[in-house]
Amino acid sequence: MSAYVPTALRRQVTQRAKNRCEYCRFPQIASLFAFEMEHIIAQKHRGTTSLTNLALACPHCNRAKGTDLGSIDPQTNQLIPFFNPRTQNWYQHFHCSANGAIAPLTAEGRVTVLILQFNEPQRLQERQGLMQIGQYP
Ligand SMILES: [Zn+2]
Repeated sequence: MSAYVPTALRRQVTQRAKNRCEYCRFPQIASLFAFEMEHIIAQKHRGTTSLTNLALACPHCNRAKGTDLGSIDPQTNQLIPFFNPRTQNWYQHFHCSANGAIAPLTAEGRVTVLILQFNEPQRLQERQGLMQIGQYP
């Protein structure tokens, strides 16, 4: 989870993500904590420390995801991989409601919202605050 990522690579990942968490879209500039280099496929599962396998993630999303690759979809009971910010489009899998809640649109969206705890009360409140000043999504 916390492998060494060279500075140049870290910068590329951050710029590509436009300085937002690639899972919950929270802007790093509004966070008290530095965002992290997240291995989409964890190193434990032979994921590499490369541009194609790294995502910028807020500490909430990164900790909640851990080394998991997916979860059981509560609707179908099928094993579903998490949303992959390298190969999938956020807006095809999630919708941000007017109240700041992130609603899933797909099975990948459902397991990601659930396991990464997008709509925990405190996170929801932070997003609502950003929405009020036009900084989210
Ligand atoms: Zn996040």
